Order: sequence, then C-alpha cells, then structure tokens
Amino acid sequence: MANEKSKKALLELLQKEGNDVCADCEAPDPDWASHTLGIFICLNCSGIHRNIPQVSKVKSVHLDEWDIAQVELMASIGNNASNAKHEAEIPPFYYKPTSLDCQLLREQWIRAKYERKEFIYIEKQEPYSAGYREGFLWKRGRDNGQFLSRKFVLSEREGALKYYNKNDAKEPKAVMKIEHLNATFQPAKIGNPHGLQITYLKDNSTRNIFVYQEDGKEMVDWFNAIRAARFHYLQVAFPGASDTDLVPKLSRNYVKEGYMEKTGPKQTEGFKKRWFTMDDRRLMYFKDPLDAFARGEVFIGSKENSYKVLEGLPPSVQGNHWRHGITIVTPDRKFLFACETESDQLEWIAAFQKLISRPMLPQEYAVEAHFKHKP
Ligand SMILES: [Zn+2]
Repeated sequence: MANEKSKKALLELLQKEGNDVCADCEAPDPDWASHTLGIFICLNCSGIHRNIPQVSKVKSVHLDEWDIAQVELMASIGNNASNAKHEAEIPPFYYKPTSLDCQLLREQWIRAKYERKEFIYIEKQEPYSAGYREGFLWKRGRDNGQFLSRKFVLSEREGALKYYNKNDAKEPKAVMKIEHLNATFQPAKIGNPHGLQITYLKDNSTRNIFVYQEDGKEMVDWFNAIRAARFHYLQVAFPGASDTDLVPKLSRNYVKEGYMEKTGPKQTEGFKKRWFTMDDRRLMYFKDPLDAFARGEVFIGSKENSYKVLEGLPPSVQGNHWRHGITIVTPDRKFLFACETESDQLEWIAAFQKLISRPMLPQEYAVEAHFKHKP
C-alpha cells in the first residue's frame, strides 16, 4: 500500500512546473529520476548519470520501486530548485547542450554541473574564463589526414587562436581571427568522439581545421574558451547589444551537410559528387568532407534580392546524374544540384527555402558583394 501511495505522489511531482522537462537537456516528459540529486531527467541523460554513481543514482519513475523517503527527497528538491543551485553561476557564453547534441557535450555538461560543480564555484571556470588558454591538441594534417600533436594558443588580448607546427617555433603556423572563428563538434565526420571542427575566414574564403583531445573536459573547455573569446569580441564590436542577441552568434552548427552532385557554370561539364556544407548563408562544397578549404561557395540571399529555389532541373540538362534535382536561382546564374534520395532533396530544399525567406542583414550584403565580384 505504501508503495502505491508513494508512486502516486511521485507521478504528481512529475506534473509540477519545471519537472515536465529533463533537468539537464530540457527534453519533454522525462521519466527517469536521480533520487540522490532530486531531479527528473530523460532516458538519455539518465545513462550519463549512471556513470557518476558517487554523485547520482537513478531510477525509472514508472518501472522501479520507490520508498516514501525517496519520494519525499524528490518533493523537497525538484528540477527548478536543483537548477537554481547547480546553474547559479553559469557564464552567459557557456554552451548548454540539448538532446540533439553529441554525447561529449551532454556528458561534460552533466559532469560540470554535478560532479565538478563548476557553476557553483566560479574559480573552477578559469580554464574558459581567463581570456587566455594554451595546450596541445591533435590536429589533422592538411593533406595526409594524419593527426599530429600541435600547440594551440587562444588569446583574447590578441583576438586570435594560433597554432604552431614545431614546439620551439617562434612564428605560428596559422593565426585565426576570433572575429571570423567558428567551432562545432563533428564527431562522426572527424571519426573521433571528441572531434571539433574549427573554421575561419582567410581572404574571405573558409578554411577548416579538425582537432581533438583525449580528455573530454579539456576539449569542451577549449570549445567554451572559444565561445568566451567570441562573446567578449562581440560585446566590443556591438556595444549595447544584449547577451540574448550575442549568445546565438558565438558558435554555429551547420544547417545541413551531405553529398550532392553539382555541375559547373556552363552546365555542360557533367555532374560531380561533392560534399556540401550549409553554414548560414554560405553553401560550400568540398571534394572530401575533411578538406582544408572549400572548392567553391554559393551565397544564398533572400527572395527580396531575387534568390529562388526550385524543385527539379531545367529540361535541357543532359548526362547522368542523381534523380532528384534542385535549381537555385541567384541574380547572376543558376546552380544545379542532384540528390541521391527524395528525402535528401526535400531537406536541402527546406534548408534553402528557410534562408531565402529570411530578410538579409546589412553585414550579409558585404558577403554577397564579395561573391558577385569573384571571377
Ligand atoms: Zn535529458
């Protein structure tokens, strides 16, 4: 009887505001709980909590037995109170993962919150808050695909991330301006669970580097240090902008990535398979997903500026190609693409459509102008 009563009380707690989403990733309808932390979490996050048993012990809300003392603890804490404590001092630039993010980000978020208590004790935030960070990362060689250990230095004072080829080298191999830097975790593409892609602009074309580190905390610290540097850069560049305006600009995930076939400007060259990355309004293509730089880029403006996306290819198109065509019309020319499957085609069209229906920002006109003047 006691058991039934405690189960009923537990289910009522789940209905309470704050307990209706996962305490860690905000996925709706969590049905697991940490009965030592007093929080409701999703199945995905419960798996991570299980790996830190000294901090968190988990149970299924529906499938496990609950005693009254455990339910009382859940009632006395809950997600809102727990997060008010464990996220009290979270820096505005710190990346809070969602259920769609990679395992590394989700796991390190939970460890940072409950195991290391980084957002209770601000002195623990020094690795990403000091404005300076250096250390070694495994970096993929530009042409041979081999990962080699390289020294990296992130300096907010210099506004740059640099890396060195030789440990005793005086001059960095590359200086990447924070202004144009983007970092995004790409474990599948890089083939390493801690794989981070860093892109930067050099002479207005995009360069990629691929790095990782064995230590998951170190890797996520690098990521948040880059976001901190971006945040402080943008605060100076856009005085008066609110944190809410700036935070979404700190790092971007790609809108969509994958293979398509494309043809050249004369549209008689035949279709070639290329790896495409949609990074906001820049559609870049590569021979290989891990190429250091893009073979070419297509700027996708808005419908007000005469950009259009059409399903299918013009009837005049010749030669062998994948079945599902897409035509992008820009003020200058038509770009023809072919997708292997219909679902791919629909996803790409949706991605292009979204950009085309969004009005252009003043700074995007400068990027567009650059593409127009490219030979
Ligand atoms: Zn979750």
